[in-house]
Amino acid sequence: MIARILGIYKKVFERKKRVQYVSAGAHRRCEVGGRAITYEVKRFKRQRSIRIHIRGHALLVTAPLRVSIKEIESAIKSNESWIDTHILRREYDKTIDPFVVAQLKKRLLEKIEERLHHFNLYYGLSYARVRVRDQKTRWGSCSSDGNLNFNIHMIGLPDDLFDYIIVHELCHLKHMDHSKDFWELVAEQMPLYQDHRHHLKSYSL
Ligand SMILES: [Zn+2]
Repeated sequence: MIARILGIYKKVFERKKRVQYVSAGAHRRCEVGGRAITYEVKRFKRQRSIRIHIRGHALLVTAPLRVSIKEIESAIKSNESWIDTHILRREYDKTIDPFVVAQLKKRLLEKIEERLHHFNLYYGLSYARVRVRDQKTRWGSCSSDGNLNFNIHMIGLPDDLFDYIIVHELCHLKHMDHSKDFWELVAEQMPLYQDHRHHLKSYSL
């Protein structure tokens, strides 16, 4: 995802040579997910829609000439969870502050527990401890005594892939292997699991 955003970002600036770049606004601030975010607006003559790019802890918004700040801020707000997720992921990638890491883990754990609860209303399985870990090789794991572990890097994943990992580990509570029965159980709540599995490979741990 980050690579994709950088790709779009690069494209905008490559196009700069052809498309007349009109104005750079001053830095402004608005609130996203309860935190103040700094953003900068650059306007391009031929751009047709508002695009949001993450730049460290700030946003770069590229926009057509005639959109108001109100429209820009409403675009920022409607992408709130996407922005929040990516800024969090970047904070995690850079931080060595144990307090920040603990905060991020706590927030991620809350989301994981909420999604586990959601899917388990259907599956009705029982699990023991749920933990967030910084694992190098896998997105999640399920132990034979029913403990579920999830990778801290799930912070940056889109919701459908996030949920796929949740369902995958939940289903291991019933089938500890990747048998046909296991995948059938996954498919009951995640019919597109093969796409998600494939898509997940493009995200590095
Ligand atoms: Zn598995």
